[in-house]
Amino acid sequence: MNVRVLFMKRIVILGAGESGAGAAVLAQKQGFDVFVSDMSVIKTEYKTLLDKYGIIWEEGKHTEAEILNADEVIKSPGIPDKAPIIKKLIAQKTPIISEIEFAGRYTNAKMICITGSNGKTTTTMLVYHILQKAGLNVGLAGNVGQSLALQVANENFDYYVVELSSFQLDGMTEFKADIAILLNITPDHLDRYDYNFQNYVNSKFRITQNQTENDAFIFWENDPTIKSELAKRKIQSVMYPFAVERNEKTKAFIEQDELIIKTLKTLFSMPTTELALRGLHNTYNSMAAGLAATIINVRKENIRQSLQDFQGVEHRLEYVATVKNIKFINDSKATNVNSCWYALQSMNTSVVLILGGVDKGNDYSEIEDLVLANVKGLIFMGLDNKALHAFFDGKVKNIIDVTSMNDAVNASYQMASDGDTVLLSPCCASFDLFNNYEDRGKQFKSCVRNL
Ligand code: ADP
Repeated sequence: MNVRVLFMKRIVILGAGESGAGAAVLAQKQGFDVFVSDMSVIKTEYKTLLDKYGIIWEEGKHTEAEILNADEVIKSPGIPDKAPIIKKLIAQKTPIISEIEFAGRYTNAKMICITGSNGKTTTTMLVYHILQKAGLNVGLAGNVGQSLALQVANENFDYYVVELSSFQLDGMTEFKADIAILLNITPDHLDRYDYNFQNYVNSKFRITQNQTENDAFIFWENDPTIKSELAKRKIQSVMYPFAVERNEKTKAFIEQDELIIKTLKTLFSMPTTELALRGLHNTYNSMAAGLAATIINVRKENIRQSLQDFQGVEHRLEYVATVKNIKFINDSKATNVNSCWYALQSMNTSVVLILGGVDKGNDYSEIEDLVLANVKGLIFMGLDNKALHAFFDGKVKNIIDVTSMNDAVNASYQMASDGDTVLLSPCCASFDLFNNYEDRGKQFKSCVRNL
């Protein structure tokens, strides 16, 4: 070890995916002593990136002697606190932060941050679309696109639109969102929160930490969890609640089929029929995005145009094709029951629903009423469909079990009739039969196109 290294702060990065590799580049550029360690095999593109900057890395192991001497650790959001190396770092009180926390130290750009149990990616992409079309110098980061750290290292944006999961928020203490959006909170990922919902709620509310009266907090005011949490907390920033029905404080709402945004500075309105994104959940996402754009003074014409021409995000209520007057919709990203509820709620025809996969302890009663009202048949696609049968047997007449996408699409096509919709909205993770939800959605689209 040379003398310089002895006096340099040592940053160890655990996990060399998009966020870890980006954090390593930024740390190296900032002149730290950097070491990257990943228990799995590192993707070639990230190895190439690390090598380009002369960063030392290891894969397939965590060498404790190289890690426990860190001054600070940047942890990938995918690594749970239960991992042995993390337990050791916690025990010896080494600070552990997320890539977003680290990157936030090295930029003065305005941060528009989005979290929630559902709708993060859609809303993040929508805000980004509005800002970019309005000509602002804006970057897209977090769970979507390039890591924030890599962009802070290499770009000079004035704004970032950042999608934040609860895992990223857990590793954030000093970071501040100039505009924070909290879309909703429903139970998810409880295995990572000691099966304690409040822990997960606290994590989501970190989106407001460090905010001052110069910042903004946009949230869905009728979410029961957000509502009860707000009654307990003191929020410093200016509150911008949105809801379908307005009360005296609501800043975005629906009135006579118009989406209205009403702040101290602005009065914006547009017909809901002109919104590019369909369904009630997406109306919420459009309100949240419209509010964020309003707060940073994007012109009304630009907001209206962008809310109209947004193309949507793949695998989120994505229209695939109409075959013999049967419409096929890919909502493969619906990996929990709540997102399937919103998908069903936005259907205006009779539905054949494909669901199933890895069940995270789902409570299907949330979608029972909509299934009984609108769903003519269910296709259970998974290696273990017991939980689905236990809930739906005897309630829905047509149920078919399949173990491949091809069989699912064929069975749904047989079951559907003229004017119906086939909806893939699985309520479950995909890992039993697919690599991930993208793989599941792509297979769906390809099978539909082969009909
Ligand atoms: P996330 O990034 O939070 O997982 P996505 O935008 O990827 O959210 O959407 C995930 C799923 O949730 C999709 O099935 C989508 O149709 C549904 N969804 C989108 N926005 C909302 C919302 N505001 N409330 C509930 N469900 C939503």
